[in-house]
Amino acid sequence: MSNSEPSISRRLDIILNRIDAASARAGHGKAELLAVSKLQPPQAIAELYAEGQRRFGENYVQEALAKQQALAGTDIEWHLIGPLQSNKARQAASHFDWIHSIDRIKLVPLLAESRAAGQTPLNLLIQVNIDDEASKSGCRPEQVAALAEAISAQPRLRLRGLMAIPAPRANAADQVEAFRHMHALFEALRKRFPQVDTLSMGMSGDFEQAIAEGATLVRVGTALFGPRPAARGG
Ligand SMILES: *Cc1c(COP(=O)(O)O)cnc(C)c1O
Repeated sequence: MSNSEPSISRRLDIILNRIDAASARAGHGKAELLAVSKLQPPQAIAELYAEGQRRFGENYVQEALAKQQALAGTDIEWHLIGPLQSNKARQAASHFDWIHSIDRIKLVPLLAESRAAGQTPLNLLIQVNIDDEASKSGCRPEQVAALAEAISAQPRLRLRGLMAIPAPRANAADQVEAFRHMHALFEALRKRFPQVDTLSMGMSGDFEQAIAEGATLVRVGTALFGPRPAARGG
């Protein structure tokens, strides 16, 4: 490692301090850090683990399974944050603790059937497409209620909240608007389903703004690990 680059553990300290400060300013409880480790090697995860980080987010099921093998014996909490294809639902249900990308009813019975009775219920977040762009994953805001009903009817699944990846806005006011919209959806869901406690939004570039608007879990990759190695093809 070059001496001019801060170490991963130093970056972790900095991010945790920024999360704590943003949480204190926001005044609604402490937000948690999900370390987004997609395309990073298991050694990088192990370094953060040694510093006490336990929540890690992965985008690709196959890549995550390989890392889980490499890091067997740890008590890492694995979160799937990338889009979930139906043909990966079975593996995802048994190998992750959380899935953030539930955006269609079809996934719900697939995940419920595949979550073993011996495992704790699978924690799920409904991903909302707050931007109304057909190309992005996530359900429309008006579909949240039906998805939430379907999930909460399944004893092997546990509805925990909402996730969003708002498109970058040209100005800060519009960015805040997207986070506020998510927070309003989250509060409405929580009234109906009291176990809901997680609003996953905010990434390296905007996690402090997200916390200011009510995020309880921020997904930070680049600001923690540095630039990602190039994606492997496919
Ligand atoms: C990659 C990714 C992140 C992390 O993005 P950074 O800008 O590197 O912090 C967060 N959430 C999702 C869904 C991602 O795919």
